[in-house]
Amino acid sequence: MAIMAAELHFDLTLYPEPILRKQADPVTAFDADLKATIAAMFERMVASKGVGLAAPQVGLKLRILVLNPTGEKADDLVLVNPTITARGGPDTMFDEGCLSFPGIYAEIKRPDRCTVTAFDGDGNKIEREFDGFVSRIIQHEYDHLEGVLLVDRMSPADKLKNRAALDELVGAYLSKQKKQSAAQR
Ligand code: ZN
Repeated sequence: MAIMAAELHFDLTLYPEPILRKQADPVTAFDADLKATIAAMFERMVASKGVGLAAPQVGLKLRILVLNPTGEKADDLVLVNPTITARGGPDTMFDEGCLSFPGIYAEIKRPDRCTVTAFDGDGNKIEREFDGFVSRIIQHEYDHLEGVLLVDRMSPADKLKNRAALDELVGAYLSKQKKQSAAQR
């Protein structure tokens, strides 16, 4: 429902929020709520200048990915309950960022191709092979559904390079927690 989508707005969930470490649950109903969620996820992704977003990154423990490698509306891709059934091709390196790790980038190695089975927002089955940039985005976002994060795949050198920024994120999270528990008292 368009009205619901307009009312729904998501904030980004940042590292080290615990939900980012959970395995996400399958979507069970392809209904208006799901459509509104998908629309709001695209809105958040575009507003944050991302090319992909997983539901746990907006605080939802659900297996939903949205992505768009080009910014053209026609290239919007929704993957609900995705499974990567195969990965292949040469390993490639790419400087990845993540909306849950603002300002942090790291060279991550991934295979070039992946085959995915999933559903679109209407519940239609999708089975496709992807390569290049789209495949990379899918593999990154799929990690989020398994609780795997950029920081887990970083080389020790990149971890060192990003140490201060990572510490800053942890510090911001802890002070937010402190404020929340103070407010509850
Ligand atoms: Zn990410």
